[in-house]
Amino acid sequence: MLSVTENLINFEKKILAACQSAGRPRSEVTLIAVSKVFPVSCLIEAYQAGARDFGENYVQEFEGKWPEAKDLSGARFHFIGHLQSNKARRAAEIFHCIQTVDSLKVAQRLNEGPHPLDIFLEVKLSEEGSKAGVDPQHLPTLIEGVRALPNLNLRGLMTMPPWSEDPEVARPYFIRLRQLAQQHSLRELSMGMSHDFEVAIQEGSTMIRVGTAIFGKRVKPAQA
Ligand SMILES: *Cc1c(COP(=O)(O)O)cnc(C)c1O
Repeated sequence: MLSVTENLINFEKKILAACQSAGRPRSEVTLIAVSKVFPVSCLIEAYQAGARDFGENYVQEFEGKWPEAKDLSGARFHFIGHLQSNKARRAAEIFHCIQTVDSLKVAQRLNEGPHPLDIFLEVKLSEEGSKAGVDPQHLPTLIEGVRALPNLNLRGLMTMPPWSEDPEVARPYFIRLRQLAQQHSLRELSMGMSHDFEVAIQEGSTMIRVGTAIFGKRVKPAQA
C-alpha cells in the first residue's frame, strides 16, 4: 500500500493533467483532502505533504482531531457532512467553511458563530443522490436569505450526484450545478470526488473533495 504522501503526489499529477486537458489553470481547482474516519495522524501526514484544505463529515469526530489540527498553520477545515442544526453552532467555531448548508435555519445558527464563515449551499439534484440539499426550486429564496446574514460569506454551490462507478453519470449533475451557480453569480463549485473529479474539472469544478484516492479505502464505520 502506498503512503498518504505518495498518494498525494500521484493524485496531484492527475489533477494537473485533468486541468491541462480541460484548458484550465491548476490554480482554479482547490483540492480538499477528505480525512473523515481516518485518524488525525493521517491528516497531519497529508498536511506535511502539502495539503492545506481538509474535509470532514462529522462534527463530533472532528472535535477529537481539533486539538492537534487547529495549530496547523494555514490549514482550512471544510465541513462536508450533513449538518444538524443543534451542531451548527459548534461547527461554526471549529470549521472555516461549511459546504452543506441547505436551510435558512442552519444558516441562521451558523451566522451566530464567533467569526465570519464561508459557506456553500448544497443542492439536491437527484432523488438517488445525497438525501440532503436544497431543492433547486427553493434555491433563489435560500440564496436571498443567506445573503442577508452578515457573518456568512456565500461562496458557491455544492452537490453530490447519485453514486456510480461510471463518472459520466455525474456529468449532467455537474453541468446543472454550474448553470445554477451562473444564474446567481456564484463563483465556486464544490463537485467531484475520487472517481469523477476529472469530469468535474471539465465541467468547471473549483473544489474537488477527495478521500479514497489520498487516504485509501475507509474501513472503520463512520462516527455520527
Ligand atoms: C466522503 C466524501 C467525499 C470523498 O469521497 P471519495 O470517494 O472517498 O473521494 C466527498 N464528498 C463528500 C460529501 C463525502 O462525504
